[in-house]
Amino acid sequence: MILAHRKELLHQISDTLADFDVLHGIVAPGAKYAYRAHHPVHVASVFTIVHRLKWVVAPDYVIIDEAHHAIAGSTWSKALDHWRLLNPKMRLIGVTATPERLSGEGLDDTFDTLLMGPSVKELIRDSYLAPYRIFAPPVAIDTSGLHRRAGDFIRAEAAALMDKPKITGDAIEHYRRHLNGAPVVAFCVSIEHAHHVAENFRQEGYRAAAVDGTMKDRERTGIVQDFTAGRLNVMTSCDLVSEGFDVPGMMGCINLRPTESLAMCLQQWGRTLRYQDGKTAILLDHVGNSARHGLPDQDRQWSLAGRPKSDNRRDEDDISIRQCGACGRVCGVASRNCPECGAEFEIKARKIQEVAGTLEEIEQQRQQEIYTRKNEVFSARDIETLTQIGRMRGMNNPVGWAGHVLAARAKKALKRNNL
Ligand SMILES: [Zn+2]
Repeated sequence: MILAHRKELLHQISDTLADFDVLHGIVAPGAKYAYRAHHPVHVASVFTIVHRLKWVVAPDYVIIDEAHHAIAGSTWSKALDHWRLLNPKMRLIGVTATPERLSGEGLDDTFDTLLMGPSVKELIRDSYLAPYRIFAPPVAIDTSGLHRRAGDFIRAEAAALMDKPKITGDAIEHYRRHLNGAPVVAFCVSIEHAHHVAENFRQEGYRAAAVDGTMKDRERTGIVQDFTAGRLNVMTSCDLVSEGFDVPGMMGCINLRPTESLAMCLQQWGRTLRYQDGKTAILLDHVGNSARHGLPDQDRQWSLAGRPKSDNRRDEDDISIRQCGACGRVCGVASRNCPECGAEFEIKARKIQEVAGTLEEIEQQRQQEIYTRKNEVFSARDIETLTQIGRMRGMNNPVGWAGHVLAARAKKALKRNNL
């Protein structure tokens, strides 16, 4: 049983199975091939199958696409729990490019083991993903006044901040400079914002359209097809074009939605890095996402336990980027010269951190040290290991400290399961 949550994903999976001559049924609204118990494989919309559980034989293997949604108490877990009762030997594999919830919490309530696939760097090197250039034009927005809910900015507040002619105008200008006419997706904060941005691009003579989940299927599919066929320059979207949504022909993106969610940020960039012969993706980050989350192909430490709350926020220690003052290109901190315009950077490796509106520079080495230390604690699973870390750090009461760390974790897990 292969589970996914979006029509587009179900179609992609079904097409791929067909390419490999795998006989399969589809469980989804209006699906061509219905459920047949004798089929070895089924592709199912999780929202459909959860209403048909009594008609479906409990599977031996379940594969979940975009598995970061499959959390305790979700529609996914309803189906999984049902099948597990009938078939205790059921095995579960979840696949995702971002193994944590959008809020930064871990997936350890559903999965036992985290297996890392190849890194984004390796995927680019081996031509599974496209190379990219990322620019962060001087940020005209100040997100410090935004409030947060469930690990991200409150949408209405972010929309009010971003949905302004000046900001959209700036985005159009940079699109003209770096991508003029090439097909791009603009990631917006709200449906209205997406429509406004599309309208502004049209006023500037570009072919632009917004897609959103409230549209009729036919209209929505039509716009995506127009985009894929190269009939559109800009497609704007707030939530529709994100994880797993395959958009062939997309040469770049315009980030107009500030997000504190690393998973969302990476999912959006991930769409843009879809491989195409000879393509170099252009990423225009107008909202400071690269300053918040680092580069798309930066090595990241994932954990089934999720990341500490503070880590998903401003003080992310593992971010070390440089931004060229001359051209806006963003690159790794190891660079000596701007890869775009050749401008020379200051020699000392530094990290830029936003503190109360000022730019504060912190030595990269110090940052790396903090990061390593945090991760050490983060990946320690038992009281002995934690106590040893506490001892090595010269704490007065290493045992007490280790107990405190574990208690805080347990409390978090309880909260997550609503117990
Ligand atoms: Zn430069």
